[in-house]
Amino acid sequence: MQEKTIGGVDIHYLSLCKRKLWLYKHGISMENESDRVAEGKVLHEMAYPRVEKREILIDNAFKIDAIDGEYVREVKLSSRMKDSDKMQMLFYLYQLERKGVKKKGLISYTKEKRTLEMALGEKEKRQVKQAIAEAYEVTKQPKPPVVKKLPYCKKCAYYTFCYALEVDEDDA
Ligand code: SF4
Repeated sequence: MQEKTIGGVDIHYLSLCKRKLWLYKHGISMENESDRVAEGKVLHEMAYPRVEKREILIDNAFKIDAIDGEYVREVKLSSRMKDSDKMQMLFYLYQLERKGVKKKGLISYTKEKRTLEMALGEKEKRQVKQAIAEAYEVTKQPKPPVVKKLPYCKKCAYYTFCYALEVDEDDA
């Protein structure tokens, strides 16, 4: 498989499920099957009507929702995947800092009407570097990681794909 750049979505998937990352990076796409993904796309299009810089593509590799003053901003439906959201935002802050742009991160959760603010310190930089290395490792494996039952599975776009092909030990 050709070398592929690791982006923010990859880091999000890594944190959620390594198998999901592998399937996504190997071009197995089920995203259209998920209404939730469609909802997210609409949400992104409607967000930030007063923020000038939005949907910014950096190095043709990753896209951030918006830069608003000292913040990079992302909008999400709910905080159900908070840890993954946080890693994705830290990844963006890290990539921007490497280009000399120092920002903080702000994630808005529309359902809960709350925001999560974060900054990139040394500890967070180490976490991001480790996540990038891990994402490369997962991606270059010849086979996807096995299905692991996760609370998130039923909401995942790959649910049918995973559970039609593999039977978890608990179900055997
Ligand atoms: S359905 Fe579950 S195991 Fe399969 S990719 Fe999604 S989160 Fe991972």
